Amino acid sequence: MQSRHLRNAVVIGAGICGAATAYFLSRRGVNVRLLDARAPAAEATGAADGAVSVASKRPGPMMNAALLGIRLYRELAEAGLLADLFKTRSTFIVARHDDECAVLEAHAAALSGAGVGAEILSQATARGRFPALAPATRMVVEVRGEGHAIGYRIVHRLIAASGLAVDRHEPVTRLILCERGQRIRAVETAKSRIEADAVIVAAGGGSGALLGLAHVLSPRKGQLLVTERAPSLNAGMPGAIMSGRYLMSKGSQTGPNGKPARGIGLVVDPLTTGQFLIGGTREDGGEAGSNDIDAVARILADAVALVPGLANIRLLRGFAGVRMAVADGLPLIGRLPGLTNGYVVTGFEGDGICLGPVAGQAIAALACGENSALDLTPFDPGRFDGLKVAA
Ligand SMILES: Cc1cc2nc3c(=O)[nH]c(=O)nc-3n(C[C@H](O)[C@H](O)[C@H](O)COP(=O)(O)OP(=O)(O)OC[C@H]3O[C@@H](n4cnc5c(N)ncnc54)[C@H](O)[C@@H]3O)c2cc1C
Repeated sequence: MQSRHLRNAVVIGAGICGAATAYFLSRRGVNVRLLDARAPAAEATGAADGAVSVASKRPGPMMNAALLGIRLYRELAEAGLLADLFKTRSTFIVARHDDECAVLEAHAAALSGAGVGAEILSQATARGRFPALAPATRMVVEVRGEGHAIGYRIVHRLIAASGLAVDRHEPVTRLILCERGQRIRAVETAKSRIEADAVIVAAGGGSGALLGLAHVLSPRKGQLLVTERAPSLNAGMPGAIMSGRYLMSKGSQTGPNGKPARGIGLVVDPLTTGQFLIGGTREDGGEAGSNDIDAVARILADAVALVPGLANIRLLRGFAGVRMAVADGLPLIGRLPGLTNGYVVTGFEGDGICLGPVAGQAIAALACGENSALDLTPFDPGRFDGLKVAA
């Protein structure tokens, strides 16, 4: 079915946000060009863990969005599109120390208040449900109805289902405005100038340069590790483990002397392959491509303290990526201030695999003049002064 309002659109960036936007626009009959500076899922989306989780969200807009995000994954899985790519499971948030217990109790109450199936387990129940967990664990909260998805696989599935050929290695260098500056007329790349009825910027870390967002967006590196397959240990883990410290490590870290510090918030995810994905750091700034020994050692020490059986299996590889964080902790999803046909969807920090599809769905609806289930008011890019596309 062709959208009544929109004939064609350019989507800049083929990470999970851009791919989802392109998919939902294509489904409305909009003719989409999807451009990427490198290749689909080449940046954060290809370097993520993949928790589709409300357990890690703070109460408020992010928790509400995550609930819709999980619901959308479930619907797309039931419809067959993501049937083999979305694994449902619980998340077990675990406390080893007193300070974590207090945070966890408050968080469990907030989750329950939002209608999430969250339950504090007794020690005996926790041992029965989760045999691989260290006996010394102080408190366990099970959050039911969560899931896991590998970001790059979701991107490739969405693009294939859209029937699109991505313009690879085609960085957009400039948005060209019409004379009165109220519309984007075209986007410019080194090779061409592409006219469009609507332009959606989903360029992750590249969004800053296009939109003058340097004062709003900042990079936050994360390091992750992957183990060999260990089917029997994997069978003793009915879901992911998240340390109470993960909740405490969200947000910017400042170390002694005002220097950026790194938080380590442990997540151990048992994959369908029988492997484990173990993460990760939250570091202000940082190079995407490297793992360092201090981080790897600290992640593994935390992991083995919670799941002692991990000490007996081999580590296969490590990788790192950069999440883009917005100054106030909320992503930018909406119309660009002052423009009738320009939109942005970026700044999801460590939540974009969970929220990318539902945000892309909402932006596609907005661009077509329709409503969406996701309330975009808290994510309005216009909340920041100075966000302006140069004419
Ligand atoms: C270590 C780590 C762990 C994570 N774990 C989780 C998790 O468990 N759960 C979760 O929900 N999220 C997680 N995330 C976060 C998630 O990966 C990101 O929020 C999400 O992938 C962001 O998607 P995006 O489409 O906005 O950006 P990206 O994936 O970065 O995509 C942006 C794309 O735009 C392209 N681009 C940039 N500039 C231009 C330009 N000028 N022209 C054209 N193209 C351009 C890039 O090449 C890139 O392909 C994690 C991230 C990291 C790094």
